[in-house]
Amino acid sequence: MERFIVKTKGRGDFINITDKVISAVEKSGIKNGAAIIFICGSTAALTTMEYEKGLIEDMREFLEKIAPENADYKHHQRWGDRNGAAHIKSALIGTDLAVPIENRELQLGTWQQIILIDFDERPREREILVKVI
Ligand code: ZN
Repeated sequence: MERFIVKTKGRGDFINITDKVISAVEKSGIKNGAAIIFICGSTAALTTMEYEKGLIEDMREFLEKIAPENADYKHHQRWGDRNGAAHIKSALIGTDLAVPIENRELQLGTWQQIILIDFDERPREREILVKVI
């Protein structure tokens, strides 16, 4: 299994990790199969999308409507932190992806990138796992 660390700024930081996942798949030497990509954490998420500034802003605005950062969450009262919105966004988008591999290549669409989104309220170092099977 391959692992890599990504430094984030938090608060809805979108980071394109496609090249790092491609490197992990190349290292595995596996020709046909699937890459399972997983982020260890409950305030970040993995998705695929076109990595484009306008769309990133659209996603931020959309997610802010679903789970506003400044809303009052029961998690804040019970746990004493302020990242209830981040947990909800992470749970909705998810923390894992499975991408098919054919002839050593991830089968992504032309504009489809693998994106890490960190929703936490502070900068973080995130560990990404890539298990090729
Ligand atoms: Zn929390």
